[in-house]
This record gives sequence, structure tokens and C-alpha cells, in this order.
Amino acid sequence: MIDLHCHLDLYPDPHSVVHECHTRGTYVLSVTTTPSAWEGTHALAKQAPRIRTALGLHPQIAHLRKAELPLFEKLLPKVRYVGEIGLDGGPEYKQFWQDQELVFNRILDLCVQEGGRIMTLHSRRAATPVLDALEARSQAGTPILHWFSGSQRELSRAIEMGCWFSVGPAMLETNKGRQLVAKMPRDRVLTETDGPFAQTEGRPLLPWETARASAVLASVWNHSQDAVEQQLRQNLRTLTGKSGLPLDGT
Ligand code: MN
Repeated sequence: MIDLHCHLDLYPDPHSVVHECHTRGTYVLSVTTTPSAWEGTHALAKQAPRIRTALGLHPQIAHLRKAELPLFEKLLPKVRYVGEIGLDGGPEYKQFWQDQELVFNRILDLCVQEGGRIMTLHSRRAATPVLDALEARSQAGTPILHWFSGSQRELSRAIEMGCWFSVGPAMLETNKGRQLVAKMPRDRVLTETDGPFAQTEGRPLLPWETARASAVLASVWNHSQDAVEQQLRQNLRTLTGKSGLPLDGT
């Protein structure tokens, strides 16, 4: 099982979730919403070789945490994965748009300087500006659009630009989500939960519950679930450029 976008530190009992991931052999990209959360979140997974911790600054709190950009810069050389970063065009965050752009563009510039990173990106109601920013800084690394909810036209553009996609049970419950995933290149799709923010049946999704997403992929792709899992593992290896442990590096 692979969860490429999960907020491990935000579960009520992160240690038990980490333990369960370890027991089940779940690969997790543990994303953070602030640079100051990185050390503690990284420490959570010290004994779990299949969990990697990404350095992030979430667009919904960019205006509150922009003073943490120097800390982001300091930590960036230690990490291979960056996220959650991006832009949010929802009405409640539009007023902070300037700060969002400042933070996002600065992070992309830093990733360029550091030779590129694997990035997990938020683009709610902002797919076009996120793609514009990525296009302007094409050396920032490999973008993964998490929970993509843009238009079919924006999706085509993202595919042409070489973006990857992580899709979860909540996204795939909707017709729109399933129509989008049907158009995504199968060799650039990975699963995620976005737990504990994303929920199922009124409770937070847990990392191994990406099985629900691979079940939907099996029906959309007309594959067995085993074949889907195999494809996803291969995709993770391609993404991370590793022949052994798919999620390697810090
Ligand atoms: Mn998230």
C-alpha cells in the first residue's frame, strides 16, 4: 500500500498510526504544513524505513507562517521531498493570495537552487496559477498534483508538463474525480489519503486505506487490484529513481 500524501503528525495518536503503517508495510510520504513541524514529524518516523517526511508550508496558512521561510531554506538541503506546498484559490483564502504567491514562488526558487525536489502540491481552485508557477520554474523538480480538482483542460496541460498525480478515496468517490483519473497517464498515478483531513464514513482516513483508491483504479483501468498495486509500486520506483526500496533518501 502506498500513501503519497498524508499528515501523520495531525492524527490524534500519530505513534500508533506510524506503528500500524510499519506493521502493514505501508509506504508513506508524510507531509508537513509548516517548516517548524518538520523535525518533530521526521522524528516520528525514525524507525520506519518506508516513511519519508516532506518539508512543507501549506498555502492555507502561508500568511501566518511566511516568517518560517528562512527555516524552510535551512532545512531544504536535508530533504528529498517537499510538501505540502501550492496555492489555494478558495474564497476564504483569496484575501491572502499575495502571501500565498510569495511563499510558493520562494519555495520553488529554493528548490531550483538546490537542484530540484520531488514536490507534493495543493492546487484547489488554483490549478492554472500553480501550473503557471511550475512552468516558470521548470527546474524546481518533479511535481505531484495531489487531489487534483481542476478542469479537463487544466489536466491536459498538467500531463503535457510532466506532472504526476496522487489520488485518494475521497476524490474518487466523486464522478468528477473518476473522470479526471481516467485521463491521467497510468504510469504517473499514485495513491494518497490526505488523512486526517480527508475522511470516510465520518472519520479520518488512515494511510493503508488507499486500498479503497486502488479498488476504484482497478475498475477505471479494468485491471485486477493486484495488477493495480503492482503498477503503483512500479510508479513509485520510477518517481523516486530507486530500484530497491521505493521511498529512499531522507
Ligand atoms: Mn494535505
